[in-house]
Amino acid sequence: MIFLSEEITVPGEFLTVEEEFSAGKNTFEDQEGNIYSAKVGIKEFNQNEREVSVKEKKHVSLIEAGSIITAQVSLVKDSVVVLSVLKTEKNGKEQVSNFPVVQLMISKVAREHIMNLRDEFKVGDVIKAKVIKVNKFGIDVTTAFPELGVIKAFCSKCRGSLSLFNKTLKCAKCGSIEKRKLSSEFK
Ligand SMILES: [Zn+2]
Repeated sequence: MIFLSEEITVPGEFLTVEEEFSAGKNTFEDQEGNIYSAKVGIKEFNQNEREVSVKEKKHVSLIEAGSIITAQVSLVKDSVVVLSVLKTEKNGKEQVSNFPVVQLMISKVAREHIMNLRDEFKVGDVIKAKVIKVNKFGIDVTTAFPELGVIKAFCSKCRGSLSLFNKTLKCAKCGSIEKRKLSSEFK
């Protein structure tokens, strides 16, 4: 029996240990006996052969410079916003990200100098950001273009949805007025 997990795996993702399975096609093993994926694809755990392999998905590509991510703000610190990636795409084609968590540095938020990051993003906001660089340590993103930034925001007082009234960002529920680094695609 071959157990197919529908979850897409990405290069460098930990799969299992050699005590459990041997390293099959499109996988590699380190000196400690940990087995990792070597390709973008679907994990296959062959229970009879006790072998793990990756069925390559060639039409799915990996996140790269120029990709657009849709992500949710999970933490706002003094100089960095921590984002959970929801979706990755480039030229309308869906991609996968090998980093589920991405950091947006204060210097990459806008062209102008940002005084307080907590005025620009709040936990729970959904944002669009562009990938500048991908390396083995992580992904650098920017929101310093008009179409990038917050596309959906929630009131910091009552969690109601925020809407634009003329150019003022306001909570329809409690009337609180807030500020964000808004995308021109904000709805
Ligand atoms: Zn409110």
